[in-house]
Amino acid sequence: MSRLVNEAMCAERPVIRLPAMRSSRRRSAYDVVIVGAGFAGSVLAERLAADGGQRVLLCDRRNHVAGNAYDKHDAVGILVHQYGPHIFHTNSDAIVSYLSRFTAWRPYEHRVLAAVDGKTVPMPINRTTLNSLYGLDLKCESEVEAFLRSRAEPVEHLRTSKDVVIGQVGTELYRTFFEGYTRKQWGLDPSQLDKAVTSRIPTRFNDDDRYFLDTFQAMPLHGYTAMFENMLDHDNIDLALGTDYADLRQERLAPRVIYTGPIDEYFGHRFGALPYRSLAFRHETLDQRRFQPVAVVNYPDESVPYTRITEYKHLTGQVHRQTSISYEFPQADGDPYYPIPRAENAALYKQYAALAEAHPEVSFVGRLGTYRYYNMDQVVGQALAHYRRMSVPADATVGS
Ligand code: FAD
Ligand code: UDP
Repeated sequence: MSRLVNEAMCAERPVIRLPAMRSSRRRSAYDVVIVGAGFAGSVLAERLAADGGQRVLLCDRRNHVAGNAYDKHDAVGILVHQYGPHIFHTNSDAIVSYLSRFTAWRPYEHRVLAAVDGKTVPMPINRTTLNSLYGLDLKCESEVEAFLRSRAEPVEHLRTSKDVVIGQVGTELYRTFFEGYTRKQWGLDPSQLDKAVTSRIPTRFNDDDRYFLDTFQAMPLHGYTAMFENMLDHDNIDLALGTDYADLRQERLAPRVIYTGPIDEYFGHRFGALPYRSLAFRHETLDQRRFQPVAVVNYPDESVPYTRITEYKHLTGQVHRQTSISYEFPQADGDPYYPIPRAENAALYKQYAALAEAHPEVSFVGRLGTYRYYNMDQVVGQALAHYRRMSVPADATVGS
């Protein structure tokens, strides 16, 4: 069982106090301090403790594990995601097999509707979307393809998020589904964002209305937090929740640090602050069983202040006479949720990455540590790969 080294833990969990960390006896009591108990930090803590036999101190400035994937039962007992909807999907058998050590799964295929022109239509754009929006009767994939080809505007060099969409579906559909949503979500016009952002959303010629096509799509059966608790349940792991690394940094608690918070913060914003996009959430519980037909409805209209509404019972399958939803309001200030993919930010990140090279005692992993717009499975993959690299003795790579 992992131990908690301070009191700031959720009330229902036991608090086990270690001798004060500031006493000299605790110095170098650990092999590694890991900063951040999200996917990156927790996977590495688990691997280092359970496979590597190392003593790990895992700290997080929040008073819970699971990072942005944290879920909890709200006041009426509905399982909600505190930091917005997290849907697990991957094409990697290795990642599924690793996580399956800590959770069973509930199959779940995500579907999203977009509220446009007084209707809700499937997103990503597919045959149903077009027929419903324009009152058409496109009958087969080739008709849809021909329709979209007639609207698409050739773009010679696909550079920006605007180019990608215009090149596939033309200006009108771009304005309807992408322009307002993206401006709200990122505080930038799609023409100012790397093409990677809107490239996440495909265009379909058929009726498939699933948001993701990955081979594995499921939710942890008892939620993300329960999965993380299983992952971290090891004698070699101590948890310091509600603890900012800034307060431990001088303690020299271990010879090695793995940092999964924002890399620019670690270096005191030496080259300037890396931009992140944040979100505010409005969580509500309603006295009705269902609020909307699918888990997420997007609101691309720029005059609506939020981007999407999530109804959690769709994700979890929970049966309850009430329902809990959340509205997402993007904002500049607050917790860093999204690295912002654009060339100048990548260039600034590179300066920090080069500085990190000169500090072999600390490694940077995760969405904030490597400034990458990664999904959960990608972060797990990155953390597992990092562990494999750490486990290879330095001389094993010589000549290989
Ligand atoms: P995080 O989860 O951000 O964890 C980093 C942790 O470090 C945080 O808990 C933070 O408190 C802590 N920390 C930072 N600095 C310090 C410090 N100085 N001291 C102590 N602690 C510190 N991915 C999907 O695959 N599917 C989805 O549906 C999906 N939906 C998302 C929805 C939203 C709204 C957001 C924001 C992200 C979504 N993601 C989704 C992405 C997913 O959240 C990330 O890929 C994943 O959680 C990143 O894990 P991480 O460990 O790198 O970072
Ligand atoms: N997007 C959009 N309209 C939508 C859905 C997505 O413009 O209805 C754009 C927007 O820029 C968004 C990006 O596509 O940030 C990626 O969408 P995704 O759903 O993957 O975002 P995330 O779940 O990471 O917030």
